[in-house]
Amino acid sequence: MAQDEFERALSYANSTLGLLKRGTIPPYPQFYELFYIYSTGVNKALNERINAIFSDTHLPSLEVVESLYNEFLKTNQIDERVSNVSGQMSENIDSVQQIIRSASQSAKSYSGSLEEANISLDSEINPEALKQLTQSLLAKTRQMQINNKQLEERLELSRSEMALLQSDLEEVRRDAMTDSLTNLSNRKCFDRELEILMQKANETSSPLCLVMLDIDHFKTFNDTYGHQTGDQVLRLVAATLKKNIKGRDIAARYGGEEFSIILPGTKLKDAVALSDKIRKAIQAKELLKRSTNEKLGRITASFGVALLVSKDSPSTFIERADQALYMAKRTGRNKVIAENDKLMTSQAAA
Ligand code: GH3
Ligand code: MG
Ligand code: MG
Repeated sequence: MAQDEFERALSYANSTLGLLKRGTIPPYPQFYELFYIYSTGVNKALNERINAIFSDTHLPSLEVVESLYNEFLKTNQIDERVSNVSGQMSENIDSVQQIIRSASQSAKSYSGSLEEANISLDSEINPEALKQLTQSLLAKTRQMQINNKQLEERLELSRSEMALLQSDLEEVRRDAMTDSLTNLSNRKCFDRELEILMQKANETSSPLCLVMLDIDHFKTFNDTYGHQTGDQVLRLVAATLKKNIKGRDIAARYGGEEFSIILPGTKLKDAVALSDKIRKAIQAKELLKRSTNEKLGRITASFGVALLVSKDSPSTFIERADQALYMAKRTGRNKVIAENDKLMTSQAAA
């Protein structure tokens, strides 16, 4: 290793330890890795998030660091799991190919024996020779049966191994698309689904709505009751979303305390009505701290709703729902604003 590379790695390591000390975060391998990557600056999104947290008055808690690790580095574990499964699958495919090769060899040699027998039978043959030929063919046929049975068993084994690997792969795929805190679709899944559903909506000329929602004053809630109780609230909101959507609708955790719902085949006014139903359901929940049964009051959320137009890209579509959400925040929170709301048009005119 060149001296300057060593020096550079050492300076990242020192800065990592400095950050961990500053935040009294235990230097466990996963947290060390997270802050080492931060120190190198290679992951821009991670650095922006950590900078925002560090610029707050308080240093990030262990829970925040854990959730950052899950969000930014767990995907590497998923890549590793995928590559493990695919390695095993390719071993399995090799073994099936070998089975097929040896099956075809033994079938060839068997048909060679039959060929020989055929030639022998063409010529004059005495009863003793016929007996010998029959016995030898019988033995070869038995051997062939044994071979076939072994091949069948090996194939069956490979087949069930493949089925196991397939279900492993499905599980990895599901994990890669799911937000671990709320079990809703994650941002990656949302981005993918939005693109697919936008294309479908355009092809079939059917309406498609997008709802963006954000919990009101969630920072104050977290600061008052702690991050873990905050996480419970995120789960509760996620469960409320899930309960109120159906069929092809997609509810996702867009980021932090922001969620999104994609509603295929839904008109703007119906998307607004559904959003309002969810808004009321969130507001109606009285929050209790699990450990102490302490009453924590209620939380509310603000919603912005947009309807797809044919020239939309995912980002223009999201932007319109976001602007409506921003208007809901600006005009009092705990409300649903659609992109065609009077407030939006008056703002556009202003
Ligand atoms: P507003 O009504 O304008 O949306 O105010 P807000 O306080 O909700 O918004 P702000 O963007 O200022 O703060 C969002 C807070 O959400 C910051 C952070 O404490 C919290 N948050 C983000 N992600 C998580 C998470 O995974 N778990 C918990 N418990 N809190 C989170
Ligand atoms: Mg908020
Ligand atoms: Mg927010």
